[in-house]
Amino acid sequence: MANCSICGRQAIYVAKSGGLALCKKHFLEYFDRKVRKTIRKNKLFNKNDHIVVAVSGGKDSLSLLHYLVNLSKRARMGWRITALTIDEGVSGYRNYTVKRVKELSSTLGVELKIASFKDYFGYTLDEVVKIGKERGLPYLPCTYCGVFRRYLLNKVAREIDGMVLATAHHLDDVVQTYLMNIFSNNWSSIHKLTPSLTSVHKLFVRRAKPFYELLEKETTLYAILNGLYPSERVECPYAPLSFRWQVRKVLNYLEELRPGLKYSTMRSLMEATSLKNTALGEAMTCRVCGEPSSREICKACQLKAELGLLELRR
Ligand code: SF4
Repeated sequence: MANCSICGRQAIYVAKSGGLALCKKHFLEYFDRKVRKTIRKNKLFNKNDHIVVAVSGGKDSLSLLHYLVNLSKRARMGWRITALTIDEGVSGYRNYTVKRVKELSSTLGVELKIASFKDYFGYTLDEVVKIGKERGLPYLPCTYCGVFRRYLLNKVAREIDGMVLATAHHLDDVVQTYLMNIFSNNWSSIHKLTPSLTSVHKLFVRRAKPFYELLEKETTLYAILNGLYPSERVECPYAPLSFRWQVRKVLNYLEELRPGLKYSTMRSLMEATSLKNTALGEAMTCRVCGEPSSREICKACQLKAELGLLELRR
């Protein structure tokens, strides 16, 4: 086992690419420095902001909620923090993760808002997937889930007066999305892969990704060290069907062979698009539901129409 590069104690974290080894104390300091740098550099939050944290109940989002609540106290930021959980309605999975969010919110003393697909769209994700299959639609469960979840996160964050919506996307997530978009030649989405995202549309809640520069293994270790890692791992039953699942496996395999590959792919993203923070200047309003959209009819309304849950009038 390696020793900490700073104090010589036993290391619990080793970064193969940079030759860095850290003990628990120095790993937590390194983690904190990295996140605060991302927040500062990208001006993610202001003092006294009402931050809505999207919390699914997985290790990353629980870590983000835990980190931001503690940072707000420590740095006297005066943030009001609300946890927002979307219950998509996946039987045998969501109930379990929602329970974890309830427990952590109560321990940290933060407000929790739960919004469900059933309440807002009239159907659970399981029901939507079934209808999609019956109608012969080509979409995977994660497609419906991603579109409807993003839609609800923005809508509900706005309804509860959130000023910024923080998500737990880490470097692995961003790099996976980058590659998935390259494979489908989707450059308009690549331009949104920034630490912060704003829009001229007044109904769009500003986005922030404080874990943008952290590797997944770093957020996982933070979760373990803070008792946030679930004792029983429950995976969404739809996850193995997704394209992301495959890209994630390949990337992890390549990173093992060539340590540092995730960082270099991230640098490629920055160079390819000269990304800093993106402001969506071309945002339109969906003519059906009135929510922000990049087209005349938003993706959520388009999917609902294809599922037969909404009738589009000319
Ligand atoms: Fe939704 Fe797919 Fe994630 Fe399951 S794995 S919660 S279906 S995005």
